[in-house]
Amino acid sequence: MKIIAFQQNGAAGVGLVSSDLQHIQPFDMPQAQRELGALPIIEMLARGEPLPALLAPVAMAAVKVTAPLPKARRNIFCVGKNYFAHAREFAGSGFDSSAKAGEDIPDCPIYFTKVPESVVGPTDTIEMPAASSAIDYEAELTVIIGRGGKGIKAADAMAHVWGYTIINDVTARDWQSRHKQWHLGKSFDTFCPMGPWLVSADECDGTKTRVRCYVNGELRQDASTTDLIFDIPTLIETLSAGITLYPGDVIATGTPVGVGIGFKPPKYLKSGDLVRVEIDGIGSLNNPVK
Ligand code: MG
Repeated sequence: MKIIAFQQNGAAGVGLVSSDLQHIQPFDMPQAQRELGALPIIEMLARGEPLPALLAPVAMAAVKVTAPLPKARRNIFCVGKNYFAHAREFAGSGFDSSAKAGEDIPDCPIYFTKVPESVVGPTDTIEMPAASSAIDYEAELTVIIGRGGKGIKAADAMAHVWGYTIINDVTARDWQSRHKQWHLGKSFDTFCPMGPWLVSADECDGTKTRVRCYVNGELRQDASTTDLIFDIPTLIETLSAGITLYPGDVIATGTPVGVGIGFKPPKYLKSGDLVRVEIDGIGSLNNPVK
């Protein structure tokens, strides 16, 4: 199942994507629910309720696709330095204020969050802020929680995963380094492109999924989630040990090697760039930078 959120004639809609990706079957839902994107559907499924009736199909080409969770229920949970090759790349970049020399592979998952207002859609513009000149991309497989819970053990964690989406964890590297934490430089407006839809876990195997990022057609990141330092069950066990998880919670699992600061000199994003993030089994984000 793929759940998509969209705008058509100025009104929000939520629906199921057809298998050929050409059509959407909208759910018959009140406007206040439709404006929350896929969140009410994930909550209904978690409660074991039947889904709303489906309306007549509309052509994908006739709508503007928005983020599947345009108003996430709370901050986006994110994991830093969670691919072996990227952890070494980040340690060598000079921008990592989180570790001393020789501590490039973390012992425990490093969590931070992005504010929900940073979320934009899969083709929306990433706005270059006046406050930074070191903007970078991070392609990330992202987990959507279905059934919530606290104290979830790794062995049980996958039963709490509804499915997946893609996030580009856009980052102001100078803010990340200078302020000794990651929240500020990763929460700027438009710094969380998400989408193009949510894919249920039966359609995407997050344990061996290929993650790629292109900037202006140049392949920058190309890795498999088999290189994750902490797998998805471990991430959920860690996060839920003290924080109750709810349906629709979002966990971005970290980015692989190939970010802009991994190059010498760094390859920062600039106005006019097009960033494409692709994940097998999900789809792609295509965001211009301006
Ligand atoms: Mg990241």
